Amino acid sequence: MFDNSTKKFQLGLVYLFAILAVLGIGPFVYLRYAQGEITHALLDLAIVGAAVSSALYSRWRGEATPAILNFAAFFYTAGALTVVHLNTPIFVFWIFPTILANFFLLRPTRAIVLNIIAIAFVIPVALRLGKTLDSFAMISSLVIGSVMAYLFAYLTEQQRIRLEIFASQDPLTMLGNRRLMDEELRLCVEDFTRYQMPATLIVFDLDKFKAINDKFGHNVGDQLLIDIGSLLTTRLRKTDRAFRFGGEEFVLLARNTKLEEAAVIAEQIRIQIATHIQGPDGSISASFGCASIQAEETREQWFVRADRAMYQAKEQGRNCVVLANE
Ligand code: GH3
Ligand code: MG
Ligand code: MG
Repeated sequence: MFDNSTKKFQLGLVYLFAILAVLGIGPFVYLRYAQGEITHALLDLAIVGAAVSSALYSRWRGEATPAILNFAAFFYTAGALTVVHLNTPIFVFWIFPTILANFFLLRPTRAIVLNIIAIAFVIPVALRLGKTLDSFAMISSLVIGSVMAYLFAYLTEQQRIRLEIFASQDPLTMLGNRRLMDEELRLCVEDFTRYQMPATLIVFDLDKFKAINDKFGHNVGDQLLIDIGSLLTTRLRKTDRAFRFGGEEFVLLARNTKLEEAAVIAEQIRIQIATHIQGPDGSISASFGCASIQAEETREQWFVRADRAMYQAKEQGRNCVVLANE
């Protein structure tokens, strides 16, 4: 979900920079050419060309890949520096938007490294000013601008990460929530369609949970849900994902795992819950349904098969694992 919105944002940026380059630098191509300054005209044309081709390539790919973003940042920076070196020091003004652009295109640490390199290349130009105070003012304004942009980009990135966690995590159990599950299922369906990579859903629902709540109160019920969350988190393999689907229903997504292997995992978790999770009335149990992704199945159909298998487990007397038909 967030990956998607970040991708859209980056794609929008590449388009925006192409439009800004055409509008802001495009006229210089003509003006330079009209004045017979062919080298300058070609340089400006190259920058506009790079911006436009980055945008067209990204449009064709459907996303602004990291390679494109790196290329754009490097090319704009190199272009701006060349412009500065070929002209009078007043052209250092072009470095300011470049420094800001780098923070939009690159991760904050990468942008600050590129900006330090860019500022180092501006030092000889600053020294050409002749007056120490002027040189110092030029470099320090670039450094301060860059540091402020870095802080802003860093804080924004931190906020984005926190928001991402808030929006994708169940606050009680700290497992992924339903929204994150939908996104992960979508990726699994894609991997299966493209690479035939198997994946199995293990859905389970706690047995007779309402009775525990009614008898001992919601706090006791909540603590049991937290315990289930910890149990799942500690036993997860790297490729597995655990979610709280809602209420007392949990989902384990075992990637690159066939139905028979997932059945073993489900059986292990069933036993672990029955032996390690203790309610006030003694041990509790859960009923499990497993389904592995089938050809031409949507994520909803896949989930429904796993959920139905779980309800069959309830009908078969609970505290057991049922495998959906393949
Ligand atoms: P079954 O074995 O058929 O699943 O019986 P059950 O009692 O678990 O099923 P039912 O759907 O009747 O009840 C689910 C209960 O789960 C209802 C509610 O009291 C409890 N529950 C759902 N969400 C929460 C929660 O966030 N915290 C607590 N403490 N209880 C919850
Ligand atoms: Mg239940
Ligand atoms: Mg339920």
